[in-house]
Amino acid sequence: MDTIFHKIIRRELPADIVFEDEHVIGFRDIAPQAPVHILFVPKTVDIATLDDLQPSQAGIVGRLALAAAAYARREGYAADGYRIVMNCNDHGGQTVFQIHLHLLAGAPLGRFGT
Ligand code: 5GP
Repeated sequence: MDTIFHKIIRRELPADIVFEDEHVIGFRDIAPQAPVHILFVPKTVDIATLDDLQPSQAGIVGRLALAAAAYARREGYAADGYRIVMNCNDHGGQTVFQIHLHLLAGAPLGRFGT
């Protein structure tokens, strides 16, 4: 697998990287859908979609969620709140096929369907 996100992980494509640990990288979305829009991506494991996630890989999604929560806490978004989203395949609106979590924050986001 070689996606735009793999190029960002390898520093072949510029990105505004705001979080990184051993397993996860977080960088600003190029087309933000909220005042704060960060993508959290696994650095060392290739998984195209949530539908491809194996039970043995469940911890990867946990790491993405914990990275998003840690970033939100660190930057002061946790008390007001935020949204995390994972798109899967065509109807989910997925466009990059390396699993990733969106963190949306910085303003009231409204409820789904309203
Ligand atoms: P998806 O639609 O697959 O859930 O999310 C992919 C996200 O990647 C989109 O929100 C899109 O704006 C973002 N994106 C696409 N290309 C780039 C890029 O080159 N750099 C960054 N930082 N984000 C990108």
